[in-house]
Order: sequence, then structure tokens, then C-alpha cells
Amino acid sequence: MILDGKAIAQDVRQRIRKESDVLRGKGVTAGLAAVLVGEDPASAIYVRNKRKACDAVGIYSDGHQLPQETTQQQLLDLVDRLNRDPRIHGILIQLPLPDHLDTQQILRAVSPAKDVDGLHPYNVGRLMMGQPDFVPCTPSGVIAILDYHQIPIEGRTAVVVGRSNLVGRPLAMLLMHRHATVTICHSRTRDLPEVCRRADILVAAMGKPRFIRKEMVREGAVVIDVGINRLPDGKLVGDVDYEAVFPTAGWITPVPGGVGPMTITMLLQNTLQSAGRTLSGAQAQTD
Ligand code: NDP
Repeated sequence: MILDGKAIAQDVRQRIRKESDVLRGKGVTAGLAAVLVGEDPASAIYVRNKRKACDAVGIYSDGHQLPQETTQQQLLDLVDRLNRDPRIHGILIQLPLPDHLDTQQILRAVSPAKDVDGLHPYNVGRLMMGQPDFVPCTPSGVIAILDYHQIPIEGRTAVVVGRSNLVGRPLAMLLMHRHATVTICHSRTRDLPEVCRRADILVAAMGKPRFIRKEMVREGAVVIDVGINRLPDGKLVGDVDYEAVFPTAGWITPVPGGVGPMTITMLLQNTLQSAGRTLSGAQAQTD
């Protein structure tokens, strides 16, 4: 069966819209700042989509498009301003940044209390310790998809292919916190097909078009395709050979329309959560 991320995202965004209206009624308009450096066309599309998504749920969006030649100090100064701006509850640094910039230093400069992408070492550490606060949006979107359909996680064998800081690692942590038995695979994994075939829940997050083939999937497995790859003919495909795997999988996410829409939804949710804290004065503790 298809795990329709687009439909789930619409449903969750309706709830977010209502909650953001309630918050506004109490005097707080949630605000998200998106910072884009350079001219990368894919990044520009992502940022535009995030802005549209904010508008649709009543979250104030504050876009900062900086030229390619922006210096580290200029970017740090902007992050500092946004950290102190009371209208902003979430700060998103669109990655990848141009090569001349030190990405890790910029991510560390974002206040953990506004780190709605969950990439500050403080939030990464909390996730590791099993006390997550802000969690990266794609992994939390994957968990939200499983939960929406009440797909059990506890006790199941989960295989995550990919170990990036953005997707594979945090998702493996989340699955482990939910008591799955998790294997993380990467480019040096031996006999990947055999490892994948053990999975009750198989997540592909590698960035290799249609890499996961039918013979790598156990009958009835839940297959989550995080990959987004553009083929030379312009078509978007995932890391899973969708047509071939569909008959074998118990559940499967399509690309597009699977994990992607949930990623933005989780960003909206984190921003709203951050804004809600200003009301209660319960900012994340950073010491
Ligand atoms: P990265 O390039 O940072 O990481 C890819 C991972 O896949 C690495 O850990 C790499 O291993 C592993 N890998 C690559 N080739 C193989 C192979 N042949 N066998 C096993 N493992 C392999 O990518 P991201 O995590 O940032 O993104 C992954 C995909 O997800 C991309 O297609 C990206 O576009 C997409 N994406 C989608 C999002 C969404 O909203 N749906 C959001 C973010 C990303 P190693 O560590 O050994 O190099």
C-alpha cells in the first residue's frame, strides 16, 4: 500500500494552521527565517516552497537571500541578528552552503532554542541521549508517516541505508528510541542486498537513483524512500526502484509525494513549537 506523504502532510498542516491561529490569538505569530546563500537553483526552490508552506499555515516567513560571495562574518552577523529578533522563532540555514563558508561554525552559531532544523550540536546531543528536543525534519517526518498509519516500530528490524547527519544518523536514533533493532548501512557495507532483506522497515537515504531493487526487499516490508534524484530527462525519482519494489513491499512511499512534503511539515511544526515556548517562557535549556 502507498504511504501518501502528501495527504498526511495536508492533514497535519491543517492542525498546524489551527494551532498557529490559536497562538496568534494569544499575541504570538510564529516566525521562521530562511537563509539562502548563493544561486543554487534546487536550494532556491526549496526555500520558495518553505515560504509558501509558511504562508499557508499562517507562519510569518522572513527570507534572506545573500550573494554567493557572502563572507563567514557577514553570515554570522545575520545569524546573530536573527537569534535576537523576537519575531523569529526558527532559523533555517539552507544547505549546502558555498564551499568557502564553514558550515559547522554557522550551524553552531544558531541559537539551540531557534534551531528548528535540529542541526546544532546541542540538539544532536540531546537526540543521542534519548532526550530529543528539535529533531531534523526529514527523520521526524519519516516517523510521523509510520505513526500516522500506526505501523509498529517496537521490536522490528529496521535498516537505514545512509549515515548522513541530516537523515540517516538521526533517523536511526529515532527508530532505536522507539525500540526498533537498527542497522545503519553506508558505502562500505558488505553485501548490502542481504542486510536490506532482513529489514521489516527499510529506509533508503543514499541519493542513488532506483538503487534499491526488488531482490533487496523482504516480502511485506515497509519501504521508506527518502531519496530525491533528478534524472537527465528531468524526472524526479527516489533511491528505490518503485515500480519493481511496489508488489513486494507491504507499504511504500512514492517519490515525489512521500517523505518530501512531510519534511517541510515538520519544519512548520518545530517552528510553531518554538513560538509556543515564548508564551510559556519555557525556552530550551542550553546549559
Ligand atoms: P548524503 O550524500 O549526505 O549521504 C548519503 C549516504 O548514503 C552516505 O552515508 C553514503 O555512505 C550512503 N551511500 C552512498 N552510496 C551508497 C551505496 N552504494 N551503498 C550504501 N550506502 C551508500 O545524502 P543525504 O543524507 O543528505 O541525502 C540522501 C538522499 O535523500 C538524497 O537523495 C537527498 O536528495 C535526499 N533528501 C531528501 C529529503 C526529503 O525531504 N525527502 C531531505 C534530505 C535529503 P558513506 O557515508 O559511506 O559515504
